[in-house]
Amino acid sequence: MTHKIEISGVSKWFRRNGEEIAAMRETSLAIEEGRFVSIIGPSGCGKSTLFNIIAGLMPPSTGKVMADGKDIVGTTGYVGYMLQKDMLLPWRTILDNIILGMEVRGVPYKEAVERALPLMEKYGLKGFDKHYPKELSGGMKQRAALLRTLLYDRDIILLDEPFGALDAQTRLTMQNWLLQIWEDFGKTVLFVTHDIDEAIYLSDDIYVFSSRPGRIKSKITVTMERPRKTEDMTSPAFMELKHHLMDLLSAGHDEELIS
Ligand code: ADP
Repeated sequence: MTHKIEISGVSKWFRRNGEEIAAMRETSLAIEEGRFVSIIGPSGCGKSTLFNIIAGLMPPSTGKVMADGKDIVGTTGYVGYMLQKDMLLPWRTILDNIILGMEVRGVPYKEAVERALPLMEKYGLKGFDKHYPKELSGGMKQRAALLRTLLYDRDIILLDEPFGALDAQTRLTMQNWLLQIWEDFGKTVLFVTHDIDEAIYLSDDIYVFSSRPGRIKSKITVTMERPRKTEDMTSPAFMELKHHLMDLLSAGHDEELIS
């Protein structure tokens, strides 16, 4: 069980043609158990870089990544990670894609199937177990990819713009679906999005990143009641928060950086 991930003083530079390029300036944040935390910021501000560092796929240039006080820099397996592109394997059925994470962890096939099938039934993929990814809509592929991430059985899941490529209507359906899953499974979620409405609607905490090379400009806590409903997106409290976030995102001056 991992209860808390802490990132302190993490920055990242890349070397390109002999030149050092800053991808992310010093960043510190904590992801507390059970919370839905979003990161919002312009393209190229280092959101994916931060995820790769947390997932242990890339070392930071400075700083620490800790899980419950233990240094996990460069260590994979502490978090489940889902990219925007669904990354389903085209030659595997949906069921065999969903159990991939369990297979990697050595769960026997029969047991993996027994866990996966009821979840597919409950979460909108009933009857699609023997289908192949190309036969599914974009939203359904994202459901399958997310179930696969869930079944990797980590307490913390990182979702990098999972709904970025979906049309507006499907996106709304998927946001509600994700909130349902988050409540049912009690997972801790770290979510990247470009979409202000999506960040407010889903999150408990929103970290706003500055433009590249990014760093945290502000942290906002969303106190809107749960469970949230689509109508909440037009409420005065929602609109006020949205204006505040738009102001933060459009102001690009260094002197406004707070941490
Ligand atoms: P975001 O996810 O916020 O769009 P990224 O983390 O993908 O941003 O990228 C942050 C910055 O780092 C960008 O300027 C990008 O061009 C640069 N970058 C990312 N990965 C590499 C890499 N492997 N080599 C060189 N530069 C990179």
